[in-house]
Amino acid sequence: MTTSVETTQQHIPENLPTHLQHFIDGEFVDSISGKTFDVQEPVSNENYATVASAQPEDVDLAVAAAKRAFKEGPWSKMLPRERSRVLHKIADIVESRDDELSLLESYDSGLPITQAKGQARRAAENFRFFADLIVGQEDNAFKVPGRQINYVNRKPIGVAALITPWNVPFMQESWKLAPAIATGNTVVMKPASYTPLSAVLWPEIFREAGLPDGVFNLIFGSGGVAGDYLVKHPDVPIVSFTGDSSTGATISTAAAPQFKSLSLELGGKSPAVVFADADLEAALDATVFGVFSLNGERCTAGSRVLVQRDIYDDFVARFAERAKNIKVGLPSDPKTEVGSLVHPNHFDKVMSYIEIGKTEGKLLAGGGRAEGFPTGNYVAPTVFADVAPDAQIFQEEIFGPVVAITPFDTDEEALELANNTKYGLAAYVWTTNVKRAHNFAHAIEAGMVWLNSNNVRDLRTPFGGVKASGLGREGGYRSVDFYTTQQSVQITLNEAHSPKFGNVEDAAATSDS
Ligand code: NDP
Repeated sequence: MTTSVETTQQHIPENLPTHLQHFIDGEFVDSISGKTFDVQEPVSNENYATVASAQPEDVDLAVAAAKRAFKEGPWSKMLPRERSRVLHKIADIVESRDDELSLLESYDSGLPITQAKGQARRAAENFRFFADLIVGQEDNAFKVPGRQINYVNRKPIGVAALITPWNVPFMQESWKLAPAIATGNTVVMKPASYTPLSAVLWPEIFREAGLPDGVFNLIFGSGGVAGDYLVKHPDVPIVSFTGDSSTGATISTAAAPQFKSLSLELGGKSPAVVFADADLEAALDATVFGVFSLNGERCTAGSRVLVQRDIYDDFVARFAERAKNIKVGLPSDPKTEVGSLVHPNHFDKVMSYIEIGKTEGKLLAGGGRAEGFPTGNYVAPTVFADVAPDAQIFQEEIFGPVVAITPFDTDEEALELANNTKYGLAAYVWTTNVKRAHNFAHAIEAGMVWLNSNNVRDLRTPFGGVKASGLGREGGYRSVDFYTTQQSVQITLNEAHSPKFGNVEDAAATSDS
């Protein structure tokens, strides 16, 4: 049975705002139309705030402010060192406010507080990382001896649209904001409508750190209205989107006619492959954590665990035992390991997959609402074993605390199973055979592979997926490449040797000879 921790009432953060506004050109503003939407917290599912709902005219204002700040303001022209100082200050402030930030995040999203705090620290680290990277940035120069020098003139592009999902919202936002502004762009950010709360901290943080007005603009509103209008806006040349694969396809189509720079970080159904020769204790810790951390609402979750048959029964039994003992509880309780899912709609989606799973696999743990939680979006960590590769719960992203486990015999079979979905975001491989580890990793269709490791990411490495998991790479210099344009400049060092088209004397000389 799933262990529940003390559960009564959600801890309400101090000074919880009851009305959230856009932040445009350094000012908090409502929508011109006065339109708003309600937002709920996921323990009671009661409204706790109204949020300004951006319409096209509000998006126009935000984009105009960002464009003005880009063209006329100091930010895009500042030395990297000066921008870097501001980014370091942002990181310092985020770090100093990580308690407050994680409380807001946990309250709004249902993430366990300890995990929300880890994500807050990661948000600070994103700013620190790009603050350092832009100072060390170097670009190519090419010499043709005696004739030509060519160099790369790297430039910020303009207004970046940043559209983010509801899972780990503040960290996701930092992941886009830090490289976008570090490289001298200005931004309009639209957070997910389920989780707008932590985004209201950005204006204060940026102002205190000295970011000029207009560089950061924040709009709240529905994806289909504000998000769509922002993506199609002619003054927005860059779109960075993280979210569902089907939304990614819509955005890709919307952005195509204007040839925008597009980065799409989309869904996943990542395999964790456990070979019989693996360090099984380590593999167990990592695979359980890999699917149930962040409430399973994690794009890189190892939501399909493939286990070699020799160890299958034992591994699966231990996995199920762990799942049953996971502490489900109030997001604000430090003992909680799995909190409340973000929204009743998402809860219903996950529950419907659990019902499908009961017809597709052997239920070993969980299987519905967490015991002891008659209300709120609490799902018991759920384990299905013996899941066939054509099962819906094997193929489709559930984005909740639900795992599908499948046996395999040979390396070839494991690889076929691992690659047998439309997604290709992450993969985890557990084996002590070094050759197998590398060969298997190279053959997997995934943007990122972890060998004998939990999902620990070096910020310098490229992040992104293949197949339906996305397009483009961000992370380290790939983010710098995405948010800048590289103009090549060529200089002749001696005479410019050009053929003399249209030169009558030359033509006569040629015909005489
Ligand atoms: P959605 O795609 O539903 O929404 C993401 C964002 O896009 C939201 O801000 C949403 O606004 C907005 N949006 C929706 N429709 C449009 C549109 N037509 N034009 C512009 N913007 C739009 O994803 P979720 O928020 O549900 O997030 C969960 C998904 O995100 C999962 O599939 C998960 O795998 C993926 N994800 C991927 C990651 C990665 O790095 N690969 C990381 C984290 C999550 P609104 O909220 O108002 O609908």
